[in-house]
Amino acid sequence: MRVMKFGGASVKNAEAIRNVGQILENFRDEALLIVVSAMDKTTNHLENLAFLARDGKKEAAFEQFKKIKRFHLGQVEELFRNGHKEEVKAKVMIHIDTVEKILNGILQLEEFPPSVYDRIVSHGEVLSTVLVSEYLKDCGRDCIWLEASKLIKTDANFKQAGVIWSLTEDNIQEKVKPLMQGGRVIVTQGFIGSTTNGKVTTLGREGSDYTGSIFAYCLDAENLTVWKDVKGILNGDPRIRPDAIKHNELTYEEAVEMTFYGASVIHPKTIKPIYSKDIPLLVKCFTDVNESGTVISTKSQPSQIPSYIIKKKQAVLTIKPKDFSFMEERLMNHVFEMVYKSGVKVNLVQNSAISLSLCIDDVPSRRSNLTSMLLDDFTVEEFLDLKLYTVLKYKLMNLKDAADALMVQQQGQNLFYVK
Ligand code: ASP
Ligand code: MG
Repeated sequence: MRVMKFGGASVKNAEAIRNVGQILENFRDEALLIVVSAMDKTTNHLENLAFLARDGKKEAAFEQFKKIKRFHLGQVEELFRNGHKEEVKAKVMIHIDTVEKILNGILQLEEFPPSVYDRIVSHGEVLSTVLVSEYLKDCGRDCIWLEASKLIKTDANFKQAGVIWSLTEDNIQEKVKPLMQGGRVIVTQGFIGSTTNGKVTTLGREGSDYTGSIFAYCLDAENLTVWKDVKGILNGDPRIRPDAIKHNELTYEEAVEMTFYGASVIHPKTIKPIYSKDIPLLVKCFTDVNESGTVISTKSQPSQIPSYIIKKKQAVLTIKPKDFSFMEERLMNHVFEMVYKSGVKVNLVQNSAISLSLCIDDVPSRRSNLTSMLLDDFTVEEFLDLKLYTVLKYKLMNLKDAADALMVQQQGQNLFYVK
């Protein structure tokens, strides 16, 4: 039994969905569960629609709504034969109508709570999975559409919901495992779950990889395959490093470090569930199925090439005790208590005799919250608009690469971090 994840680019239009059907032909006899993201940039469009409605920009919001509707109906038009077409349109319209209702609701609300955000943006995945599953049925596949929100149970931390593993595992074992059989494809949505009282939640932007990992874990899958538009996991962003090379293998530890430090190829939360059950992760290319991709498993050899990773939207806070005392452990402890309270995420820590510097993901509201707490006992200097530049396996780096990295540091006030 395999779990596969198809991201937004792999289902970006009718032609891309046909390609997914083609890929799945290679796994005709296997028991498959596929997790699908919203088509192309639909999540961004839904988000935009919600924000326009929140800001009372009714006309613009409806314009955006119509675009989303037109786009999905247009893809149905292209993808389906007469006969089936009307049936699929009717299915799509049920969800489009719900989006419109939520939109009207937001226009009337005084506030825009995160629960409503989650409800509206979750429709991207609902729509894409209707199209994909109906298309697979058209291709003669035995296909079942399941609502991930009924299976993945989470806390009520909307927009970044935490999975309640015991409930989720029971649900998937009881309701999904018995359905898995050779030749059948189960289609479900990435990125969404629901609270114990049934409110839809999302697992954080780009969270569909994580959904794939949750299903692979709960089903004890043979492996998890994530289909990407690149050959596999490269050792740098090909837009910045055109000579980036593919890693054929990576250990789980290397993969988790790379994703934590900003390699956006897979969501950082993806690794832990599959690691804990030794489930291999295959990162494969949806435009070139024969390309071997990258394998992450317990059998993988550590990589022999360095990786260059850039994480944007960083800030550094340099924190000093007001009374010139040493930055000793008692004070560090105090600082980290406030960091924890503020919800700020720390990527890098450096201390000196009288200072502690933290490199953080810069979410301005959280940063200012932290700084104002710190100011009671410390002085705080903020350095903004930074990038964290990470080199993994720096010992394997050649001199030219090292020089490039240092140049990046000098040019743009970037941090250079060697791990
Ligand atoms: N569609 C969601 C997003 O764009 C989830 C995902 O693509 O993984 O954030
Ligand atoms: Mg997406």
